[in-house]
Amino acid sequence: MISKKNWFLMAAVVGAFIVAMLTAAVPQQPVAIAGEENGYYGKKAKYVFYFIGDGMAMPQINSTEIFKGTLNSSEPMYKDKLNFTVFPYQGMQTTHATNSFITDSAAAGTALASGHKTANDVLAVDPTNKIKYKSMAEMAKEKGMKVGIVSSVSIDHATPAVFYAHEPSRNNFYEIALAISDSGFDYFAGGGLLAPTGKKKDRPDALEIAKQKGYKVVNSQDEIMSLSKKDGKVIAIQPGLAKDEAMQYEIDRTNQLSLADFTSKGIELLDNPNGFFMMVEGGKVDWACHANDAATTVRDVMAFDNAIAEALKFYAKHPNETLIVVTGDHETGGMSIGFSGTKYETFVSKISKQTLSFEEFDKQVKAYRTTVGETGGNLQDWLPSLANNFGLTELTAYDKQRLSEALAQSMLDPKKRAKDEQTYLLYGGYEPFSMTVTHILNQKAGIGWTTYAHTGVAVPVFAQGIGGEIFQGYYDNTDVAKKMMSIMDVKFQQ
Ligand SMILES: [Zn+2]
Repeated sequence: MISKKNWFLMAAVVGAFIVAMLTAAVPQQPVAIAGEENGYYGKKAKYVFYFIGDGMAMPQINSTEIFKGTLNSSEPMYKDKLNFTVFPYQGMQTTHATNSFITDSAAAGTALASGHKTANDVLAVDPTNKIKYKSMAEMAKEKGMKVGIVSSVSIDHATPAVFYAHEPSRNNFYEIALAISDSGFDYFAGGGLLAPTGKKKDRPDALEIAKQKGYKVVNSQDEIMSLSKKDGKVIAIQPGLAKDEAMQYEIDRTNQLSLADFTSKGIELLDNPNGFFMMVEGGKVDWACHANDAATTVRDVMAFDNAIAEALKFYAKHPNETLIVVTGDHETGGMSIGFSGTKYETFVSKISKQTLSFEEFDKQVKAYRTTVGETGGNLQDWLPSLANNFGLTELTAYDKQRLSEALAQSMLDPKKRAKDEQTYLLYGGYEPFSMTVTHILNQKAGIGWTTYAHTGVAVPVFAQGIGGEIFQGYYDNTDVAKKMMSIMDVKFQQ
């Protein structure tokens, strides 16, 4: 028989045990405060680099590492790291827009520049065009930092434009061009402008307006490379641009300036006691992926990585004052390492034989069409070119069938070509023969593609320097901007 006293004692012991169990089962978590994960409370960064590889996610990065390895070693399993893939802090960002899981560059850029989500096609304003979303570049300028915007595509393209313009559509190129000189930013460089005199070419030239507003506009290599701080605000445009006012694809570039050249010149011009912010876009990674051209893609990722090397040289001199963030805005092409025809094997070294971009090859196809006419296409004529320009020497019967069908389509005037579902899935609106050549080469290399547009997968973020540690984890693309603002000591605007 348990006495009343002992019963109380036993109840107290059991009670204490239950309380102890419950306490152990609920670990003591700090209470999360909204937005705090983006807060940085250490020493602020004086020099900030923001590298955005357009269309660059893990497939583009991994295939470049494997490609670089095949260039540097004959060992089959060798792969090289890139300058940014060894950064100490890495995270992952979601990329969706307000109206689609698959973002475009305008919505993604708005998030990355301002910390606000918007709809596809919309540039640094809300989807109803009522609220302007201020970018970290505009905040940096107000704070007295110098600001540079560099892109390998036209500097009025969506990714650069979200940092200085606010438009209901990314295609308002004239309004965007005017916003360049209104920004007061210090250095615009790389590609040109798509509509400096408006859609109908009847408006005052935006570059002339920029000159009146104090910008020095240069577009020769000598002028660009001899720019110095005394030149003040600058718009530096690569001479002899490729299609759509963009710099050359790296695979096609000969003696023209590189993205790294424009980055190092920017550092030289922007360096000042109040610090600087510079955004550098590798814009043609995206374009090469839209066209499902892996060789052109990895060469442009390497050019982008070389530009990052210039920032790292600066970082080495100012390690306690510099932040470098590298990311992409979305994935393009649904690229993958792996293709149904090659199963568990890859042969990435095969794409190293490609000597020119799909765009340059298109010119050969068009010239041939002019020579032989609608019905004169013969695959035999192309075998030497396929061997020399793409290393395609062993073609199967199926390869030849696909190539002959595509060549027949390419010989037609673009207006006369088939517009059915099958034709789109095969060629995506590109030159059918060029598309088929790169598809066959990529498939032999074990590289697959699923779309001619973007995909909705998450994108990695790499950070080095002051505040870099807060980029660890898995967060939204808007958080990338909020984290950077916190480290730059500028205030995110709701
Ligand atoms: Zn993009």
